[in-house]
Amino acid sequence: MDFKDYFIRDELLKALDEKNFTEPTPVQHKVLAVKYFNQDMIVRAKTGSGKTLAFLLPLLQDVKIKEREPEILILAPTRELAQQTAHEAEWLTQYMHINIASLVGGMDIVAQLKDLKRGAAVIAGTPGRVRDHLERGTLKADNIKCVVLDEGDLMLDMGFRDELEAILNALPASANKWLFSATMPDEVKNLANNYLHEPLILSLAEEGEQHEDILHRVYMIPSGRHFEGLVNILIWEHPSRSLVFCHTKMESIDIAQKLQDAGFSAAALQGDMTQSERNAVLASFKSGSVPCLVATNVAARGLDVEGVSHVVQLGLPDDKETFVHRSGRTGRAGNEGVNLILLSPVEAGKFKAMLRETKMKVEWLDVPDIHSLHAVQRDITEQNLLSAPVDENFKECLDWSEELLSRAEPKILVAKLLAYLIAKSSKGYSLNRELDKERERRSGRKSGTAKINQANTKKQARPKGVIVKLNSLNNNNAQVGRVLNALCRSLNVERSEIGAIRINDGYVTAELMPVALSRLEHEHAALERWGFYPVSNVKGRGRHDGKVKGKGGNKFHS
Ligand code: ADP
Ligand code: MG
Repeated sequence: MDFKDYFIRDELLKALDEKNFTEPTPVQHKVLAVKYFNQDMIVRAKTGSGKTLAFLLPLLQDVKIKEREPEILILAPTRELAQQTAHEAEWLTQYMHINIASLVGGMDIVAQLKDLKRGAAVIAGTPGRVRDHLERGTLKADNIKCVVLDEGDLMLDMGFRDELEAILNALPASANKWLFSATMPDEVKNLANNYLHEPLILSLAEEGEQHEDILHRVYMIPSGRHFEGLVNILIWEHPSRSLVFCHTKMESIDIAQKLQDAGFSAAALQGDMTQSERNAVLASFKSGSVPCLVATNVAARGLDVEGVSHVVQLGLPDDKETFVHRSGRTGRAGNEGVNLILLSPVEAGKFKAMLRETKMKVEWLDVPDIHSLHAVQRDITEQNLLSAPVDENFKECLDWSEELLSRAEPKILVAKLLAYLIAKSSKGYSLNRELDKERERRSGRKSGTAKINQANTKKQARPKGVIVKLNSLNNNNAQVGRVLNALCRSLNVERSEIGAIRINDGYVTAELMPVALSRLEHEHAALERWGFYPVSNVKGRGRHDGKVKGKGGNKFHS
């Protein structure tokens, strides 16, 4: 069904249409199909499934344009989320001529007072600041028809209890209370009975259900080696945009700093920063100028940043819910995403226990060791060099290079340039022996794996394979780390079975050693699930003609 088939006012339809949102997502359909909105409600649907519009659309339907006092109050657990919801409400109501006020802590109160004075139909805020305005009398609650507790299970948590009760007591008794979240543990449902009256419960997600667009992968690391493990997997997976979660503010500052020192473009987001610093960092992450954000759980709930390819969780998450919400910063709006968890052997046992009752599928791997990273890094450097844009400086550089070549040996010159390019980037860390030793200590028996890994590190003559051409179903997939991963996983081979990978415009070539090559024929479907399909062998033995298939339909709506 199309948005036009629902009972939605024209001003909203126009905004949706301009944004190219034509069909409601399943949770939006479910909520819009409710006949009677004048009641309490608990709505549970997966991360990134469009819950914001699911509450905004029906609530905005009944807003009176001329009314100056607030009618809708949306509460969120973090300032970033409240501001994001305010922005969402702003573009959605651009043809309705109503005002939206964002009342969050850490932001200029004078500007907020001005917004309230001007008259705002919708308030999106954090509990502390909203309570403040209610107590000052600057926010009038008499006309509030509905309060939405976005991330409702967290909002009912102890940490917000005082503020929340003060706010709910200040609202008219007739105000409806809507709770939205991806998780709703039983104890929270029981607690909700204290605040909600016979709520309508709409559940589109089961407890512990797998999110179909998020792939979970655990990388085992030695204890206390979060930073080193992170560097190795950032090199190996080569994410286009990653959100790294730490346990403490100090850890997030420390990791971000060390990543910068190791040549990564990274920044921290944590609660000790001023709100304007937090907003600036988030804006840089959204724009892509800082592709790696190292955050505390302040970024775990609700944040919607386009293009986050990887979430990385350093160490054991506090609980299942935290795990689900952090993971949910990727794989949004029908896009696919990868969630990586770095765990020590002790943490791994606890993590397994945490997921025991759930239906989540998790892939387990050892952190790639330094010797595996070399080829990936080389390919990435080469790729960056070869695909460097030809800009206005290029002509001058051509002349320059000609002049330079007359004075220096080409091979030495290129070698120096390459050395310069890789000078600042980390080569990764040797971690596997330490990990094996830790496992040995834990299991109390000798393991042979350490020896095998040691043997692997010895320099070997590089075997030659067959170059295979792959097309990418989704151009975003075409990064060396992703291709490598896709091949290793789908063909079920070691990294050593894959040689050089080159990313070209619209296609990829990969060098396959004999075992990988022999499996390719039967694993087209598996490889396609990773977004690649083989087209032909470029050189070498045999020929593999893969079928060509486009990415069918909009998965979000299917
Ligand atoms: P949730 O609150 O369930 O985690 P959001 O409300 O943040 O999800 O929405 C996730 C993303 O999906 C946002 O970028 C949003 O703009 C987008 N989105 C929401 N509804 C639709 C729709 N009907 N069609 C396309 N994209 C949508
Ligand atoms: Mg949300």
